[in-house]
Amino acid sequence: MADRSRVNRMQGVVLRRRDQGEADRVLTVFTPDQGKRDLIAKGIRKTTSRKAGHLELFTHVSMLVAQARTWDIVTEATAVQSFRHLREDLDSISRAAYVAELVDVFGEASDDSQHLWDLLLLALNELDEAEADPSLLLRWFELHLLSLAGFQPELFNCLGCGNPIQPVDNFLSLHAGGVYCPTCAENLSGVELISADILKILRHLQRSNWGAVRNLQVRSSNLQAAESILYRYLVTVLERQLKSADFVRRLMR
Ligand SMILES: [Zn+2]
Repeated sequence: MADRSRVNRMQGVVLRRRDQGEADRVLTVFTPDQGKRDLIAKGIRKTTSRKAGHLELFTHVSMLVAQARTWDIVTEATAVQSFRHLREDLDSISRAAYVAELVDVFGEASDDSQHLWDLLLLALNELDEAEADPSLLLRWFELHLLSLAGFQPELFNCLGCGNPIQPVDNFLSLHAGGVYCPTCAENLSGVELISADILKILRHLQRSNWGAVRNLQVRSSNLQAAESILYRYLVTVLERQLKSADFVRRLMR
């Protein structure tokens, strides 16, 4: 049994859930001050559970959590924000699931849960409001998540000579995590051309807060090119650094 004297109030966003035993569920939540936590919600799959509706995926929830020997136990849960519109269509659900998956897997690497928490809530709010271009939001989100987790790609100075990157065709290395100038890239393998336009977009997304990005008009072909680069960069980081092959497989679907 939980020790009632050790009950804490905690906020979190439900990233993932799995059934446990007859009626329980283990929740992976992201919290502002403790990063990622696994908690158990007992009896939540019973029809009489009052907690159930408050512990849906992607919900921002306020909980009372009792310390226990294995998983700490959610004894009370109240939804702070349920992000209702996220659940209205499959596209929104899959975007929210993507955001949650990325926070799940990069949450380990980040030692700054408050900033990642802010980023997560901002992304869920924006997806819920559905006013901004979701593709623009996701690209911005990916770049800021990468920075917080210590995998920020170098887009401003050449990885070879260190000189500032000029607005010409340059070369990107996913494995090295950044850009090479044309001179340094000459004898390198595993690099790909990146146009000045695409690099400009990525740089702007990387160094700007969301307010400075959300009303940008970006050609969809350019956004798609940015998406392809960031997707392949994320997969590279996950496979090489975080060794999260599982996640990569889920992402591929
Ligand atoms: Zn160079």
